[in-house]
Amino acid sequence: MALTDRRARLVLLTGPSGVGKGTLVARLLERHPEVWLSISATTRSPRDGEQHGVQYFFHSRPSFDELVAQGGLLEWAEFAGNCYGTPRQPVMQRLDAGTPVLLEIELEGARQVRRSFPEAFQIFLAPPSFEELERRIRGRGTESQDAIQKRLDRARAELAAQKEFDAVVVNDDLDTALTELERLMNLA
Ligand code: ADP
Ligand code: 5GP
Repeated sequence: MALTDRRARLVLLTGPSGVGKGTLVARLLERHPEVWLSISATTRSPRDGEQHGVQYFFHSRPSFDELVAQGGLLEWAEFAGNCYGTPRQPVMQRLDAGTPVLLEIELEGARQVRRSFPEAFQIFLAPPSFEELERRIRGRGTESQDAIQKRLDRARAELAAQKEFDAVVVNDDLDTALTELERLMNLA
């Protein structure tokens, strides 16, 4: 497949923890089942209700390290004390089949993908304000105090990097952000 065919097909969504990436992506996939969302590998523990192979592939650290050693990940990074990475083969298969692929990953991973797939379209999802981001992450109630603090610290660095991206979408009103994401992804 020519590079140009892949160009419009790989989209990255990055943004600080709690900004609403998961919420927005779930809405996008309901409306556009033709988009394939990559399922990442992670060493973090499952949250209540999360299942292996659905939200993530949950790994021990040695088993994650093995994936890295085998070259099985397209990119990977440490985030707030855990490792996260994108399994390579399923992404390549979808891209070769012409399926639109969405990666929802953090900043370091996005930078790695930018080097290996410069044709990917990179979108940054920003909160309306830092205070609102903090409200959302605390309101979600899934993380310990310590984990929330690590995520908020990281959020400052991520927000400072938004200019690196092809487009920034502000997730203030969810429906407006969804419409904007659909427009950027050329989805009807
Ligand atoms: P992320 O996947 O980026 O960590 P989530 O999708 O889990 O974030 O959203 C974090 C919290 O913010 C959730 O409780 C979610 O319901 C809420 N949220 C998401 N989008 C909005 C929005 N546009 N306005 C208000 N709250 C939102
Ligand atoms: P969470 O623990 O809240 O599910 O995810 C924490 C962060 O890890 C989020 O910013 C999310 O985008 C990021 N993330 C999820 N999967 C991957 C991945 O495969 N690679 C990278 N680099 N980041 C990921």
